[in-house]
Order: sequence, then structure tokens, then C-alpha cells
Amino acid sequence: MSAPIEDLIRSDIQALRAYQVPDAAGLIKLDAMENPYGWPEALRDEWLERLRKAAINRYPDPQGRALQLVIREAMGVPEDMALLLGNGSDELIQMLCLAVAAPGRKLLSVEPGFVMYRMIALFAGLGYAGVPLRADDFSIDLDATLAAIERERPALVFLAYPNNPTGNLFEAGAIERIIEASPGLVVVDEAYAPFTDASFLPRLGDWPNLLVMRTVSKMGLAGLRLGYLAGPPAWLEQLDKVRLPYNINVLTQASAAFALSHRAVFDEQTGRIRTDRAELFAALAAMQRDGAGIRPYPSDANFILLRTAPGRAGAVFDGLLRRGVLIKRLDGSHPLLTDCLRVTVGRPEENAAFLDALAAETAAA
Ligand code: PMP
Repeated sequence: MSAPIEDLIRSDIQALRAYQVPDAAGLIKLDAMENPYGWPEALRDEWLERLRKAAINRYPDPQGRALQLVIREAMGVPEDMALLLGNGSDELIQMLCLAVAAPGRKLLSVEPGFVMYRMIALFAGLGYAGVPLRADDFSIDLDATLAAIERERPALVFLAYPNNPTGNLFEAGAIERIIEASPGLVVVDEAYAPFTDASFLPRLGDWPNLLVMRTVSKMGLAGLRLGYLAGPPAWLEQLDKVRLPYNINVLTQASAAFALSHRAVFDEQTGRIRTDRAELFAALAAMQRDGAGIRPYPSDANFILLRTAPGRAGAVFDGLLRRGVLIKRLDGSHPLLTDCLRVTVGRPEENAAFLDALAAETAAA
């Protein structure tokens, strides 16, 4: 007779809820920081021609070497730095956690931040310490963070730059101090790099413990699942040992190499999203001035965090859903996110539909 679930599955896993993804069928989908734009028809045809030649009867190139070269070229990875590819940057977070997890070891991050840092640390048996950001503007509380680093001696520190779900860039000087004070690795997670000019990528090598992680998801290739980690070769050589063989499939390798060699298409799309982000923010700020009871937070990413009037986030979220617009409800997920919602910048007509629905819902309050 097999062991009962309660006896066999770790109690900390039993206590979790699986990652929830709402059904977006028929809705304007502004919940997941996706790029809303497709590719020009000619480019699509060229891509499909390329896929015709993909040898799906064979295992993929184990390190994705051809793809690595394209990423280096397209993203300006410093020549003396190594690259490691992941099935989404989520998998890279997992590799980092697996490689360092041992009793008493911890991952430290700031909160509210990307939830998978805490989740994956838990999966890997790595302790977790979260340091609250400042309540007024979600900036890093440097004194509290340095004190926590001193106390916890984290093996890993993750900082999303810009941060999810708050959208802001942390002060570069604060990140530098954290890198210098950290006894372990510091991963600057630049998932939202396409939407900001700030980056630590050119600064790789300035500190021996700095790694930079990125993803192609937000630039417009979320369906491929591809992230990359850049950093000193000696570190990545160790991390590569916990990578599952052939983690980047043949179709992803071929498609990403093709797409990144047409980077201008994505730069044009992400540039448009940046312009539309400014318009969306201005419209939300105008609603705030008009007394709609919402407050948008400035963003360097492809989404905007907003706070509703006290106790209204759930009703506004549900009202938007009834009007066919799906955004992300953050209220309840962290004390600093009480009354907060997050909207991804979509196509202009989607943003307009969101604003109309929001105006109707906040007026109804
Ligand atoms: N880092 C941050 C800060 C994110 O917001 C996300 C996605 N929400 C990821 C990493 C994971 O990205 P992916 O696995 O799609 O590469």
C-alpha cells in the first residue's frame, strides 16, 4: 500500500497553492506583462521557413551555442563574461537555488518583489529572508537591507531592476552597496530591461559576485520560455552542473536565434510600449487629480502599479473583469500592496478600454 499524501509530500509543499494563472479567454489580457504585438507577416513566414529545417528528431544543442552567440551580439554581453540559458529565467532562479541550498543557507530579497524568489528558495530547501521596501515609494531601505545581509549572511541576493510588481528602478548606488556588502552572489534580475535604459550588464566584472539575469519574455517572446544569466565564467561553470540536459528545446533555440537577429522589430515594439506607458500613466495621474481615488506609481517596466481607494481593490478588479478587462490583483499578497492592482501596458485600444472600465468602476464607488 502506498504512503498517504500527507505522509509523503513535504509539509511546506502541502501548505502551498500551485502557481495560479487565470483563464483569459475572451478578455483583454493585461495581467502578465506580455508584449501585445505580433510579427509582420513576412517575418512570420521567414521564421516558419526556418522551423521547417529544425531537427526535432534530435536532441537540441546542449548549451544552445548558436543561440548564445546571437544573444551576446544582440544584448551586448561583455566578451569576458559567460552565459547560461534557462527555460525561462524562472529556471535560472531554480538552478541558482539548487546550487547553493544547504542547511542554514538563505536567499534574501526585497519585498514586495518577484514571488518566485521566495517560492523557488522554498522548493530547493533554501531559507528565505525578505526586507521590506520603503512604503511611500518602494525604494530600497538601505540601512535595513544592509543590516539583514549582515544578520542573515545570504548565499544569494535577488534584486529585480526594475522591480516587479512595483515597476520602479532601485537607486543604483544602493545596489552597489548591497553587492559590496553581500558575502554571496547578487543577481540583478533585468527581466524588464527592454523598457528602461538602466542596466548592470555593462558593469559585470566590476564585482566578483555580480550576476545579471534577463529574459526574452517581456520583449515579446514569452511563449518561447528563454532566460539567460550572464556573469563570470567560473561561477556559471558551477551553475551549469545543475542544469537539466537539453533544457532549451530545438524550437526555442531556432526561434529565439531567428527573432533576436531581427531585434529591430522588438525594439520598435518595446519603444511603442514605453511611449504608451507614459500616456497610460498620464491618464491615470489625471484620474487621480480628478479625485477618482486611484494612485499610479511611476514605472520603468511594461506595467503600472496602482492603488485604489481603501478597501476598493477587489471591487475594482471584479468590475474590470465584468467589463472584459483582466489585470492583476495584488491586494492581499503583501502588506505594502494593500489596495493595489497592476496593469500591463497593452495596445493603445486595450489601454483605452482599461481606462474606460476603470473610470466607470471608480465613478461607481
Ligand atoms: N523576473 C522577474 C522580475 C519577473 O517579473 C519575471 C516574470 N514575471 C521573471 C523573472 C520570470 O520570467 P521568465 O521565467 O518568463 O523568463
